[in-house]
Amino acid sequence: MKYSRYVIVGGGMAADAAVLGIRSVDQSGTISIICDELDPPYDRPPLSKSLWKDKPFESIWRKTAAQNIDLHLGRKAVSLDTTEKTVTDDAGDVYGYDRLLLATGGSPRLLPDADDGVIYFRTAADYLRLRAMCEHGKNFVVIGGGFIGSEVAAALAMNGKHVTMVFPSNGIGSRVYPPALMNFLNGYFEEKGVTLLAAETVKSVRKMSGRMKVTTGSGREIVADGVVAGLGIQPNTALAEQAGLKVDNGIVVDELLRSSDRDIYAAGDVANFHSAALDMRMRVEHEDNANMMGKLAGRNMARQSDIYSHQPYFYSDLFDLGYEAVGELDSGMDIVEDWQDPFRKGVVYYLRDGRVRGVLLWNTWGQVAAATELIAEKAQYNSETLKGLIRD
Ligand code: NAP
Repeated sequence: MKYSRYVIVGGGMAADAAVLGIRSVDQSGTISIICDELDPPYDRPPLSKSLWKDKPFESIWRKTAAQNIDLHLGRKAVSLDTTEKTVTDDAGDVYGYDRLLLATGGSPRLLPDADDGVIYFRTAADYLRLRAMCEHGKNFVVIGGGFIGSEVAAALAMNGKHVTMVFPSNGIGSRVYPPALMNFLNGYFEEKGVTLLAAETVKSVRKMSGRMKVTTGSGREIVADGVVAGLGIQPNTALAEQAGLKVDNGIVVDELLRSSDRDIYAAGDVANFHSAALDMRMRVEHEDNANMMGKLAGRNMARQSDIYSHQPYFYSDLFDLGYEAVGELDSGMDIVEDWQDPFRKGVVYYLRDGRVRGVLLWNTWGQVAAATELIAEKAQYNSETLKGLIRD
């Protein structure tokens, strides 16, 4: 058995941030990372954004290894014994810990009837596979109209590929953007040459002499050089469940990011935490949350008692459009749109019972702090009082 003072399961952004968090308190404690990917920690957002513009692939790597740690790559943690305080990986190796972090992230939701060959776009390896297909391929199908679907479709189109998007709802980002903005985005993607098959499902995906055939629910057949899917993720809670930790839409953590076992912490996509600003428990699947939560979990594993009160923000780039956003963004909420230039520049407020719970800063920069404060204020607002409130 190999003992480390700190063991981290998962090798994503939260894991890297946790190492930095630990090292900000404890410079010499032994740290092991067990990660089923073959790559060490890297920045995930560029995979669907800046790497398709001008950023080099090498820029994604984080410098985790420089922190004097043991990295066990290509190893999946398969069992957790909370009494013995050990984790066992799929090669049978056993790791003893004093403090454990579960930063296991999420796994892509899969299509019910698809051959292998569909890229469920999530990892650096997925990015490289898609890039390789782009060497010769011209036609791509992107399934899903959420974050991955919209960003990858835009990236491929910007690189001269013909893209057909297939998604069940009426428009791009339908769960997040208000209907008028969603309709604008549909038109914008079409202007950029993307074919949209909205309100359409995927029946099957089959390999066909080196290409792929997508058959839709309504019987349409599309032949493509590559198929990418972004159907959302499910939190990887199997290890936590097997160990009897409290799990409810993710691993439930307290304000110090401890699970129901006081020596086991969770952070990133997999952690279900209480947001003080929003008075609700939530799981957030974005970079800022992974970074901030990972760092704080690391510090607390090294016996600090910092409270996680951060309200994470997120961002997206679609062609030349971009935004930052904070809080709860659900197109089913009461929405106030304050456009300076319709769908090009403005702020969208998401309210429940008159309280601002989310803010979308559309091509409006440097206002994340103002939006975060507005949400934390918990005051009553309406369309009159919100107009002009946040501008860059
Ligand atoms: P997502 O944003 O939740 O979007 C999932 C999409 O899949 C939705 O458009 C949904 O359609 C669609 N869908 C679900 N089941 C489907 C099916 N059977 N056939 C076709 N479409 C289906 O998830 P994602 O795009 O896969 O992203 C994965 C994770 O990475 C998310 O956690 C996301 O937050 C994160 N991520 C974040 C960023 C960012 O912060 N900018 C960028 C990339 C990824 P309907 O809405 O029409 O039901």
